[in-house]
Amino acid sequence: MSTVTVVPTLQNFIDGEFVDSVEGATSSVIDPATGREIARAPDSTAEDVDRAVAAARRAFAGFGSSTPQERSLMLLRLADALEAHGEEIAELEARNAGKPLQAVRDDELPAMVDPLRFFAGAARVMEGRAAGEYLPGFTSMIRREPAGVVGQIAPWNYPLMMAVWKIGPALAAGCPIVLKPAPSTPVTALKLAELAAGILPAGVLNVVAGGDETGRALVEHPGVDMVSLTGSVETGKWIAEHAARTLKRVHLELGGKAPVIVFDDVDLGATLEAIAGFGYYNAGQDCTASTRVLAVGGVYDAVVSGLAAQAQGYVMGDTMAPDTTLGPLSSARQRERVAGFLERRPDRAEVVTGGRRPDRPGFFLEPTVVANLEQDDEMIQREIFGPVITVQRFSDEQEAITWANGTPYGLASSVWTRDIARALRVSKALRFGAVWINNHGALASEMPHGGFKHSGYGKDLSMYSLEDYTIIKHVMASLD
Ligand code: NAD
Repeated sequence: MSTVTVVPTLQNFIDGEFVDSVEGATSSVIDPATGREIARAPDSTAEDVDRAVAAARRAFAGFGSSTPQERSLMLLRLADALEAHGEEIAELEARNAGKPLQAVRDDELPAMVDPLRFFAGAARVMEGRAAGEYLPGFTSMIRREPAGVVGQIAPWNYPLMMAVWKIGPALAAGCPIVLKPAPSTPVTALKLAELAAGILPAGVLNVVAGGDETGRALVEHPGVDMVSLTGSVETGKWIAEHAARTLKRVHLELGGKAPVIVFDDVDLGATLEAIAGFGYYNAGQDCTASTRVLAVGGVYDAVVSGLAAQAQGYVMGDTMAPDTTLGPLSSARQRERVAGFLERRPDRAEVVTGGRRPDRPGFFLEPTVVANLEQDDEMIQREIFGPVITVQRFSDEQEAITWANGTPYGLASSVWTRDIARALRVSKALRFGAVWINNHGALASEMPHGGFKHSGYGKDLSMYSLEDYTIIKHVMASLD
């Protein structure tokens, strides 16, 4: 007897209700750990986007004038709802994106709940800088107004976490949202909509599932005042160019290629464990992943062999099992993309460990270390976005800085040394939105996350991201 598994068909969330897309087209959502379909989601058209934007515009009148206290309470309730449904959300996200369940539960969920609580507080302490008389007979004041209706476009690597980082500051600022998750991972953003339904007024959060075309419709829609993307550099450039045609504000969190500079005065064992830990986290599909290691000559060999030993300690397998420490790549396409870098490597490059596709279902790739790479190699210059750590040998501090800065990206970086003056010199010279000293990847909701150079502009987390979703207004009153 064969059993038939019924795959749920998801709906968009528009104006406080779950609705089918206008044309009814759907696409498949696959669990990357098994290769099996887990849901079908709307492949929305420009008409669906139009309906969602219209709902958001209607909601703006009320929500944009709500008090900080009201918005703060909504954010706190949303954080509580996420926490209360944590187990269900962790499992959905693990299947949606192919992550070890434990990582979603222990790392990602707290990194969603806490930012929402931070923005709940931040909404109440946002302030204009000054009010006073700058011309005799006139009083000036600075107001921070919500930026308006925002289109938010999320990636597949942290589908719900990135969505939450986007909606938190927008809601705190009083901006209604049309959120478009990545086409391969819409499940948890739609779950978030379900939780928000009883908390946010209708039209304040709309979730429209679909692919790149759906995203384009959002970017080009005249009713959207601001677009925020977390995604690739190419998409960021397209959005900046096309948003310019309707002069939308743009907020871009793009790719990264984090350099990890290791000097010879560190506790190498602990350092390499930490670097591998964040390099292979989420199978390396992280814009800040510690995957571009620069090791000074004296420790280069030990760094290569130590990282290889770390890589061999990871356990791939059932993402629901507690002992699984490495999940698959997010799709068959992403695995082929990552494998392509390995196949095109120069002859001199050495795959010290890993690099193979294990013989099991799902889109797994062994954790990999590649040595003997040079600055102009493709694997150094381009974001690999997979479980591949590269190692380069540098000779002195200046060379390390030049190479670290020598890619188009500028999101995150780290320097590992016990010499405090050197750590401070290097951290000043690095052209990255974040520099970690003797750690990599630690985040705090109060601290900004965002890029330099081709990693984009605008910040996530912190008061800076709340400010990004507001516009300064000067009100000047005559005292006569
Ligand atoms: P992607 O750019 O292909 O897609 C991201 C989103 O943009 C998806 O929802 C997609 O449908 C949409 N999109 C694609 N083309 C579009 C267009 N022309 N107009 C509007 N929307 C469009 O990126 P991805 O492959 O899903 O995500 C991985 C990338 O995201 C990596 O480069 C990674 O570094 C980056 N990322 C950055 C951060 C950060 O904080 N800086 C965080 C996570 C991921």
